[in-house]
Amino acid sequence: MKLDTLAVHAGDRKKAGNWVPVTTPIYSASSYFYPEMDTLDRVFGGEIPGQNYSRYNNPTTNALEEQVAALEKGEWAIACASGMAALHLALAGALADRRRSVVAGPVLYGATIRLLTEILEPSGVAVHFADPNDPAAFEAAVQEHKPGCVLVETITNPMLRVAPLDTVIEVARRHGALVAVDSTFATPLLVRPLELGADMVVHSLTKYLGGHGDVLGGILVTREEFRQTLQSISRTIGGVLGPFEAYLAMRGVKTFALRMARQCSNACRVAAWLAAHPRIDRVHFPGDPRHPDAAIARRLFPQGLYGAMVSFEVKGAGKEQVFRLVDSLKMIVPATSLGDVHSMVLYPPMSSHRDLAPKHRQRMGIGDNFLRLSVGIEAPEDIIEDLDQALEKSGS
Ligand SMILES: *Cc1c(COP(=O)(O)O)cnc(C)c1O
Repeated sequence: MKLDTLAVHAGDRKKAGNWVPVTTPIYSASSYFYPEMDTLDRVFGGEIPGQNYSRYNNPTTNALEEQVAALEKGEWAIACASGMAALHLALAGALADRRRSVVAGPVLYGATIRLLTEILEPSGVAVHFADPNDPAAFEAAVQEHKPGCVLVETITNPMLRVAPLDTVIEVARRHGALVAVDSTFATPLLVRPLELGADMVVHSLTKYLGGHGDVLGGILVTREEFRQTLQSISRTIGGVLGPFEAYLAMRGVKTFALRMARQCSNACRVAAWLAAHPRIDRVHFPGDPRHPDAAIARRLFPQGLYGAMVSFEVKGAGKEQVFRLVDSLKMIVPATSLGDVHSMVLYPPMSSHRDLAPKHRQRMGIGDNFLRLSVGIEAPEDIIEDLDQALEKSGS
């Protein structure tokens, strides 16, 4: 079945009693029992599927897990309280019985860098950074450090670099490392890393998959062989997704393919318009033929789907002028997060990259004139009109 079909059918409509609910209800019960103790005993023993305690399993959360596993072509998924909880679980699981060493892309979600350097490194995990877009340097790092796990993001923030997942996976495999991919910015509509040979895929459900700015969650999709280790860690740590959040996330995922396709096509329109605007210096968008990874995007993603994030630099602008621009927006929401139905704009020097020294930011390509736009599902003309009037109003 195609992605759009799986999104609305996978995981749902399980028989409950002698009826079938058309959507999976919210099971808020914290524990479950059966007419015979013997059944509960076998559920606890993992001999038969079933419910016992919501830190172990929950029918609503399980439905979401089945749904997202189908979209990512994975065998098994586990939902977590947030994207960060899912990343933590992925790394803990990957390193459980492997060399406690990670080679990660140098540009990662801010909290992911902190997870690596402030949580994992002090607990004895060797952490090294290497650029997957510099294949020779990346392979050299993997060869030298022999990591248990390699971690990359499919599309990075906010430069929107596209990782060559196929070559990253090939290199990691050759050197015996597992590959975990944070594919939050790409979603399974653009690429399914497990199909390319990755071992674990992580999403922040908070972003495109949830899509409505109303739920925080994460999910890890992987193969059956990792189930026991990951389940055991998750059941001990307890960072599971609650049933209310699972319900909202599942509702969001049903329309995710429609939303994402529209957001990607809107992003192409907006990026092209920005690139032609006299007050815009540079546009960073993987669908732009001048983007450094345009060829990788064309190789990995279906035609016309390059993600729905567009970063851009306002000519000659400093912080004050950028603030005036953002304050002038009438529709685009100036809030953190991304992937929602509504367009959002973020100023990385103020938020995601606030703690970096300005010089370091500049080296990463993030000047004081840099903005990141998460393109929503609105009519593209309205997004463009809002940007146009704000650029006009904030000019000179
Ligand atoms: C938001 C985000 C995360 C963290 O997800 P939360 O749900 O906020 O914990 C991780 N990786 C990427 C790429 C993200 O955008």
